[in-house]
Amino acid sequence: MNKKYRPVIGLEIHVELNTKSKMFCQCPADYFGAKPNTHTCPVCLGMPGGLPVPNKTAIESTILLGKALNCKINNEFKFERKHYFYPDLAKGYQISQEDEPIAEHGIVPILINGKRKEFKIKRVHLEEDTGKLTHSGEETLIDFNRGGVPLVEIVTEPDFDDGEEVKVFLEELQVIVRYLGIANADMEKGDMRLEPNISVQIVEKLPELPSYKVEVKNINSFRFVKKTIEYEVERQIEILENGEVPKQETRGFDSSTNTTVSQRSKENAEDYRYLPEPDIPSFEYTDEEYDVICSAMPELPFDRMERYVDEFGVRSTDAFFLTRDKALSDFFDVCLSYLNEKKVFDGDTAQILANHIINKKVPINTDPEVVVSEIIDNAKPVETDKGLLDEAVTRVIEANPNAVDDFTSGKNPNSIMFLVGQVMKEMKGRADAQMVKEALNKRLS
Ligand SMILES: [Zn+2]
Repeated sequence: MNKKYRPVIGLEIHVELNTKSKMFCQCPADYFGAKPNTHTCPVCLGMPGGLPVPNKTAIESTILLGKALNCKINNEFKFERKHYFYPDLAKGYQISQEDEPIAEHGIVPILINGKRKEFKIKRVHLEEDTGKLTHSGEETLIDFNRGGVPLVEIVTEPDFDDGEEVKVFLEELQVIVRYLGIANADMEKGDMRLEPNISVQIVEKLPELPSYKVEVKNINSFRFVKKTIEYEVERQIEILENGEVPKQETRGFDSSTNTTVSQRSKENAEDYRYLPEPDIPSFEYTDEEYDVICSAMPELPFDRMERYVDEFGVRSTDAFFLTRDKALSDFFDVCLSYLNEKKVFDGDTAQILANHIINKKVPINTDPEVVVSEIIDNAKPVETDKGLLDEAVTRVIEANPNAVDDFTSGKNPNSIMFLVGQVMKEMKGRADAQMVKEALNKRLS
């Protein structure tokens, strides 16, 4: 990276909640694979007279997520109409939140290359998803099954230095929402969508911030996240190098060329003419009500990882691997308590278990008792067959006269270790190395 420039990257991430019904009507929210326009009603089609009724589970899921991202959860919040004209919106506006979102000012710790870094969350709010447009040739088809599905938007501060940090953050966020059980967050299916805002700061001009930002859409896999950001930063630096300023616009990522292409000039917030949604009263919650909702909070992946490292002495790479999936991590915890009860190992019980589960790829539906007895069996000293050992010692002594001579003459006392190795090989590992050494010593003295 050219030292004259510093990328300024903030994220807008949309996550579809996995509620049964849509955000403001009773239509099923699970639209994947359904026949187009079958999960619709007058409310989500924006017909006159359709009245929105907010989905309580979606609101509680957003509260839980805000808490998991260490946000302040507002005791009052409301919904607003965000106006823009585009065919994917049946009403001509989207019900969203602007002034008073559900949650604000959060912090998410992440491990980046083994180091802890914190990223700030600006806000977490709830809105409805739009319909899906499919362009084919001259035609555009609209499917409103997705229209009205609860959608959480997470907006970060511009804290990211490069594409790698963005990718790691997104992966962590995906793990968090899956721990909470509030979303599937599958990028390939569009359950989780990333729109980074990217600009490049001229370091010399600090503290003056860039006068523009470019939003990139259509990034539908973790693979493309890094590529998109790297490409976009390079593109903007090139423009700045020519003494020009990049245009404020929305660009789309094109995975066939790994580049971004201009889509439209970017609206400012005032262009949306937000106004309070008159059909939905504002919400008020007490701290006690929030405590009840957040009592469903599981131990979060980052905290769990730290616990494995700090309390159990598990290597951090293994702790990270184990905590990426809640079911795997729960399985590890259960097996560990069984193994601890047996008291067969000293301090490194958790690492022994981690090695076993990770290296042997133990399926998480295995009976923990079985896992534990396998580990204990593996750790038992090998029984040595004395008869076989005598024969193996004889063969190795005959086959290696030089090493034997080196040892017996005192020229190289270490050559006994070579002979031990040869005997172990003959025994195919079914021997105790200490016993082998003793047998050789006895024979050669
Ligand atoms: Zn509906």
